[in-house]
Amino acid sequence: MADDCIFCKIVAGELPAEVVDEDDHTVSFMDINPWTRGHALVIPREHARNLFEIDDDNLAYVAAAAKRLALRARERLGCDGVNLLNSAEPAAWQTVFHFHVHVIPRYEDDPLRLPGAPQQVDQDELRAVAEELR
Ligand code: 5GP
Ligand code: ZN
Repeated sequence: MADDCIFCKIVAGELPAEVVDEDDHTVSFMDINPWTRGHALVIPREHARNLFEIDDDNLAYVAAAAKRLALRARERLGCDGVNLLNSAEPAAWQTVFHFHVHVIPRYEDDPLRLPGAPQQVDQDELRAVAEELR
């Protein structure tokens, strides 16, 4: 458990949360400020700051729990789709530094919009960045 981590405190039962799913490695609970009806967070029990630090096993446990919750949101809440969202570091909007995946039920008439717009780039630029990533 990391000092002063609110999500570690939720895992430990020291802070209240509306828990909706638990297993040996993960806890899922309602986001306190939901973007849509049913917006939940899935976290590993073991503290990791974010995607850069979580180990592959815990990442897989969280992914499986997120899928479980997505299927349940469709069945119980009747959502039309789901977004999974993860943010790593403040540049990518992370505000709580214990790895979490947002499971956001989506409804045909909900108000959410894509936060960015696809940009046109030329092939040379695409090729150059691909080369850096290989
Ligand atoms: P991030 O911005 O790091 O991707 O997501 C953090 C999320 O945690 C936010 O959506 C925020 O509403 C949620 N959150 C922050 N503090 C608490 C809390 O004390 N309890 C719960 N249930 N959610 C929280
Ligand atoms: Zn933590």
